[in-house]
Amino acid sequence: MRVLGIEGTAWAASAALHDTERDETFIESDPYEPDSGGIHPREAAEHMSEAIPSVVETVLDHAEQTAEGDEAPIDAVAFSRGPGLGPCLRIVGTAARALAGALDVPLVGVNHMVAHLEIGRHESGFDSPVCLNASGANAHLLGYHNGRYRVLGETMDTGVGNAIDKFTRHVGWTHPGGPKVEQAAADGEYIDLPYTVKGMDFSFSGIMSAAKQAYDDGETVEDICFSLQEHVFGMLTEVAERALSLTGTDELVLGGGVGQNARLREMLASMCEERGAAFYAPDPRFLRDNAGMIAVLGAKMYAAGDTIEIEDSAIDPNYRPDQVPVTWRGAAES
Ligand code: ATP
Repeated sequence: MRVLGIEGTAWAASAALHDTERDETFIESDPYEPDSGGIHPREAAEHMSEAIPSVVETVLDHAEQTAEGDEAPIDAVAFSRGPGLGPCLRIVGTAARALAGALDVPLVGVNHMVAHLEIGRHESGFDSPVCLNASGANAHLLGYHNGRYRVLGETMDTGVGNAIDKFTRHVGWTHPGGPKVEQAAADGEYIDLPYTVKGMDFSFSGIMSAAKQAYDDGETVEDICFSLQEHVFGMLTEVAERALSLTGTDELVLGGGVGQNARLREMLASMCEERGAAFYAPDPRFLRDNAGMIAVLGAKMYAAGDTIEIEDSAIDPNYRPDQVPVTWRGAAES
């Protein structure tokens, strides 16, 4: 089975082909990079309207060239329905509906955050892991129970990447800030910053205000970046450990663009090792926003008969992972 996925919830205009028989995923992406400031929804949507047609065309060409014998180049079209920026999602939804109609194949509506989780589960082969999604606009722990991915803990304010990006805008760095923080942290030393975990939830607003203030007060940016990583990733690791402990699960997967950070991966790997749990972090191309994860989950949903009619395929900018009935696990799973 070959599923074409389309992603475009915020900054990555991306299309992919996932081939289940060959277990291969071909991804073509075109990122939106703001000249200054953060992601501007109108500019991001303009980027989607220009870039989505060309990334889709590249993937369609690839699908035509790699189909063998009487194999169909595409069996279904999957797309990110949300969560994300409304103006961007509308363009992705329109492109997916038009493509599914033109190819006369079924349409699959994918929750972007569940896709961040499922790519880790797919790649690791873990059966029922807890997932830490550490992305730009989100930060939460998910665990499977009774047919849904339940939110075990989450940010009480901004997503983790967006919080880091707010600090880097304050110091005048261009978007995205996360990789620059990681680089600067290599030369930094520890200073105290607020650390806010409340049970299974956490908050980033206090630490980000304190980091900006520390910068204005003359602390070195390297020390602040080092300490931001230690505190923020320490918070995520503490709650991830509590999620493993409370659910009795011994598998953890990482999802989301912040998961590309080596220090976060190191902290999670060491926590898992200490408690005898298995840890898996996907390859960076599957961590940052990408259509590969949409195509992979789209293929599982399509195999389970979880397709949607055009009239039911409206996008949802606030689509939560626990709203999704998990139809693809178990017998139907490919
Ligand atoms: P979501 O998936 O929640 O919609 P998003 O669309 O912003 O989020 P992602 O690709 O998951 O996209 O994550 C992007 C975020 O990852 C940005 O905030 C960026 O600064 C951060 N990031 C990227 N690389 C690193 C890194 N090496 N260290 C820390 N953060 C990073």
